[in-house]
Amino acid sequence: MFFWSNYTNGGYLRYYQIAAGILQLVVNTPLKPFKNMVHSKEFGLESNVSAGVDLGEDTDTIQYLKIYIMLQIQQFVFNDFQENTYVLWNEQKECMLVDPGCYSSPEKQQLKSFIENNQLKPVLLVNTHCHIDHVLGNSFVMDTWKLPLHLHRNELQTYRETNRWADVFGIQANAVPSNLVFIDQDSELKLGQYRFNIFFTPGHSIASLSFYQAESNLVLAGDVLFQRSIGRTDLPGGNLNVLLNSIQTKLMTLPENCIVYSGHGSQTTIGEEKLYNPFLNP
Ligand SMILES: [Zn+2]
Repeated sequence: MFFWSNYTNGGYLRYYQIAAGILQLVVNTPLKPFKNMVHSKEFGLESNVSAGVDLGEDTDTIQYLKIYIMLQIQQFVFNDFQENTYVLWNEQKECMLVDPGCYSSPEKQQLKSFIENNQLKPVLLVNTHCHIDHVLGNSFVMDTWKLPLHLHRNELQTYRETNRWADVFGIQANAVPSNLVFIDQDSELKLGQYRFNIFFTPGHSIASLSFYQAESNLVLAGDVLFQRSIGRTDLPGGNLNVLLNSIQTKLMTLPENCIVYSGHGSQTTIGEEKLYNPFLNP
């Protein structure tokens, strides 16, 4: 048994069945080692690869390997609203910043130091939605790395209200809606070779987007879905039925082991929320 599997980074993977139930994996790729590599002694690995490896068994009892090449991700918790900011990067160290909420100087420095210390190159700035806690660091990121902001067109109104909300909370926002790129579910959003599926998931805000990256088995859900909870719907543009519909018809169609990175709180999985989220199991 032998087969080739081309993959997107220009390398290739070859599988050899060298004994019953044992495969030898040959990887020809310039990629770096990856921390959650499952490296069994049964597998000869000729080169390092940024990948997770699953060992499984099909109905004919032939062992198989599932190799998935993944983005790396770092979470930060920023500002008084405890908002999650995410940095994702590929093997080329190109990175994407999602909902930068850094507000204080130390928070901004923390983000900048992380990017510099890891020699990352910011190439993409995205908002899941534009509530104040998710946009407080936009200007800093746009100015520091000269990036446009990607957001849904209908979140622009939400963004424009940032400075008014800042007054309510007694903070300085300085949100300047300029240098914008509008995206929706039909847009192409890529970080290098990694393509994101964009889901239109309104209900928490008027035009929230969720970003699914299949190879990495993750979804950036903003404030649509949380571990054991869902986004609030009492702010302008919020609607509980719309939100539940977004979750059920978009997010819940993803694989059960897909990791959900939310705008607040801990990561979870689609499967866990299907079982345990009280809002989805009334
Ligand atoms: Zn929000």
